[in-house]
Amino acid sequence: MSDYLVIGLGKAGVSVARLLLSRGERVWATDDYKTIHELPAFLARNPNFSFLIKSEWQKVKDIPLAKCIVSPGIGQHPLIDELSGTRIPVISDLELVMEELKIPTIAITGSNGKSTTTALVSHIFKENGISVFTGGNFGTPAAEVLLGEAAFEWAILEVSSFQLERVINARFHIAALLNIFPNHLDRHGDMENYFSVKRKIFVNQRKEDIAVINLTHPQWVTKNIPDLKSQLVTFSVTGALQEGFFIDQNQLCEKKSGIKKILFHISGWSLPGKHNLENLTCATAICRRAGISPDAIANSLHSFRGLPHRLEKVCEIEGITFFNDSKSTTPSATKVALEALNKPIILIMGGRAKVKDFSELTALSEPDKVKAIILFGESAPLLYQSLSGFYDLSLCSDLEEAVQQAFLKASKGDSILLSPGCTSWDQYKNFEERGEHFKNIVHELVKG
Ligand code: ADP
Repeated sequence: MSDYLVIGLGKAGVSVARLLLSRGERVWATDDYKTIHELPAFLARNPNFSFLIKSEWQKVKDIPLAKCIVSPGIGQHPLIDELSGTRIPVISDLELVMEELKIPTIAITGSNGKSTTTALVSHIFKENGISVFTGGNFGTPAAEVLLGEAAFEWAILEVSSFQLERVINARFHIAALLNIFPNHLDRHGDMENYFSVKRKIFVNQRKEDIAVINLTHPQWVTKNIPDLKSQLVTFSVTGALQEGFFIDQNQLCEKKSGIKKILFHISGWSLPGKHNLENLTCATAICRRAGISPDAIANSLHSFRGLPHRLEKVCEIEGITFFNDSKSTTPSATKVALEALNKPIILIMGGRAKVKDFSELTALSEPDKVKAIILFGESAPLLYQSLSGFYDLSLCSDLEEAVQQAFLKASKGDSILLSPGCTSWDQYKNFEERGEHFKNIVHELVKG
């Protein structure tokens, strides 16, 4: 029996603790925001599990720790600092899982679109009768792949930069870098450093492995992945490539050794926007390299509905279509949504601002797309200041009032889009709760 320290007992940390206990290890754990009474009973009651409150942290230096596992959401922590000068490895849940996992693994990272692409790859595999574990940074924590009874053929993992930061030996058979935009720079410093973290998804690959990389932003990619050991597979959404996957006249194509092959027509693809074409192209590259045929991929697309809260079509009332994009917590995500839908759009925005600058929303490729913007929540005054002079703006106190205002302003053929560009934390627990509330308000309109 060895001793492990788990920092953070959210969903991922609890799964890690359960995994270690199931392997007969001793687990010490801490969480800055929870007490032992808030933990699942199977942990709290396990004699090999000890919860350390802050005043007990000094005990850690006397425990002969084999490893410390940091939960995905945690950046800095006094206990990590304490261990940094020692020989005790400080790793992520992902690294721990990959030490034991024996099935081929696909890892998908990027700044935006990770969950959609992970879900799409998983959907295509499942539609083709392949049993997969899907999880990681999205949905089910990675450790659950080793805990269930089911025997999976593949693991498909969404991987965050926070998890990649602590990669030591984790090796992914197919690793994809979907895109890279300024994101989490508070944590990662600058873009160079952020990229060096993302690049760790490829660092332990061998020559038989596959690295799927987006060439739409070649300045980052070519400059920053000079030492790739695996086979490079590229894709792009900005036109034909010399080599790789791209879309040409609504056909998904692959060019290999100078020969262009049309894989399939994308008529079965229903998710809106160029960003989702990027997700589709990346998923196709992954599935092709995993051995799924073009026809099998094409036939799976019809039944993929996308994920909730990401430009999710809610319903149509009196010719007005409602979209729920509650997952949007930055102005860039809202811009992506606006670019994806047809005009005219009435946009509902607001919440707790992550950034002070919303000016990118004043530089849309078609500014007249936006008929009006209804602002709500804590950031409404800041948004009003940033956007005034560019759009017809209204201020509301909450989402219910915002939906009613939007509906009053809308006419047949318009879209009403909730794409807040801000976090939900001023009025909701998370973006899911906000999105569900929006859908309920909209469904009430139908009844009214
Ligand atoms: P992630 O898991 O990386 O947060 P999601 O698949 O949950 O990404 O999508 C979140 C939001 O990011 C979407 O609502 C959309 O606004 C935006 N998005 C999705 N895919 C892309 C992409 N390929 N490029 C840019 N933005 C995207």
